[in-house]
Amino acid sequence: MKQYVNYINGEWIASASGKFLPNTNPATGEVLAEVTQSTAEDVDRAVQAARQAQKAWRLVPAPERAEVLYKVGLLLKERKEQLAQILTSEMGKVIEEARGEVQEAIDMAFYMAGEGRRLFGDTVPSELRDKFAMSVRVPVGIAGLITPWNFPIAIISWKSLPALVAGNAIVWKPASETPMIASEFTKIYEEAGLPKGLINLVYGSGSVVGNAMVDHPQIDLISFTGSNEVGREINARAGGMLKRTSLEMGGKNAVTVLDDADIDLAVDGIIWSAYGTSGQRCTACSRIIVHEAVKEELESKLLARIAHLRLGNGLDPSVDVGPVINRASLEKIDEYVKIGVEEGAKLLCGGEIATDGELGKGNFYLPTLFTDVKPDMRIAKEEIFGPVASIIPVKSIEEAIEVNNSVEFGLSSSIFTQDINRAFRAMRDLDTGIVYVNAGTTGAEIHLPFGGTKGTGNGHRDSGVAALDVFTEWRSIYVDYSGKLQRAQIDNK
Ligand code: NDP
Repeated sequence: MKQYVNYINGEWIASASGKFLPNTNPATGEVLAEVTQSTAEDVDRAVQAARQAQKAWRLVPAPERAEVLYKVGLLLKERKEQLAQILTSEMGKVIEEARGEVQEAIDMAFYMAGEGRRLFGDTVPSELRDKFAMSVRVPVGIAGLITPWNFPIAIISWKSLPALVAGNAIVWKPASETPMIASEFTKIYEEAGLPKGLINLVYGSGSVVGNAMVDHPQIDLISFTGSNEVGREINARAGGMLKRTSLEMGGKNAVTVLDDADIDLAVDGIIWSAYGTSGQRCTACSRIIVHEAVKEELESKLLARIAHLRLGNGLDPSVDVGPVINRASLEKIDEYVKIGVEEGAKLLCGGEIATDGELGKGNFYLPTLFTDVKPDMRIAKEEIFGPVASIIPVKSIEEAIEVNNSVEFGLSSSIFTQDINRAFRAMRDLDTGIVYVNAGTTGAEIHLPFGGTKGTGNGHRDSGVAALDVFTEWRSIYVDYSGKLQRAQIDNK
């Protein structure tokens, strides 16, 4: 059985704990590998390596740092298929989506490599004569990255590439469910020539390794993506130490379909965003807010499409919907479906764990659609993270926007309409960090900020240039070449 071990200070090494846990394929139940389970001592070793390495790395010119990122991009591109296969086998998403996810990491590598020659600050006139003023970005120091299993290569690329190009070092704890792709990504950094100690991969549980990272006084910032519950806990603990946190948490994203919408296009968008990745994207569509005039048409067209979705092992290219990540998740989804039925929502299809033939060996849930859902039902408010969508009928665009904005999360929303005035009102009034017009709730591109409002985050963004704000401090610099004391706000008035 292949064993996965930590990568600390440029060495592949198992934790002294001696403990290993199995990693399983969610489509088949097969054990794929064993993974070392680290301790707080391993985290500390990683932090010391990172501290040492960062001292030299921050002095390397950013365009030279970026050379490593270009090589990372090239290696990712060369290994795209191999990485996609590994990703699907341990995480479950269908192979076409896995390829798309690896492509996201490739795009991010080249995009952030370009930042090596920008990292723009401002040069501004001073209010005083013979004085020069500018602002520059400087690295924060040691970045602790804690990532989830649903986008196990894209999310670490959003966080690690900007962190490194900006001159930081990294301690990374990937999700326990996706250790193999984490190892492959780390190997790529190693092969690209990243000096030792700049990326340190530490496997283990959130409660041991994650907590040790949050509590470590020499980790300067924590960038986290995952559940709201864990994000809040991290924020509270790190906040007490005045440690910067960038939190990307859940969503309860909605597609709105107005009475003038192209219904077939809306159906395409909903199917892709609600059932792609088995509903386990943080931007997944789990609410469908529909104008009552087109509700019946939308329902029947959605049902016809859902009936043709093929469940199975994501490595089979004819499969549309893969498994969910694990048994606990399957049970959580089933629990929510029961709650929905009890609350009085009408179940149109699905609503069961799939047990037929080979599906019984994995964690499969039938694509599920509810209708006549009220905005205050739990299935309309809480993140389910599975292939379950709820239709909520409304009478107007005003009501649709109110319902869209009524949840505690604010990640993504979408509106289907052919009326330009309504589209612009929605772009202004939908309160999420991401808004789509005439497309589903998923499909973020790496050169724009990714993140949400309200309970989804704490104001920071992954990807895009905005990611640099997480991994840098601003330094304002004044150079006085007048040869005399000049006092701002005093001597020029
Ligand atoms: P978690 O928030 O538990 O896990 C995300 C990451 O945080 C993992 O690496 C996890 O480690 C780690 N972690 C867990 N507990 C701690 C802790 N106390 N301190 C520091 N790090 C910790 O999410 P799950 O994977 O358990 O998923 C649960 C639910 O979270 C999902 O059903 C979904 O609702 C939501 N979720 C949302 C995501 C999003 O993209 N917004 C992504 C993933 C989940 P480990 O894997 O070892 O537990």
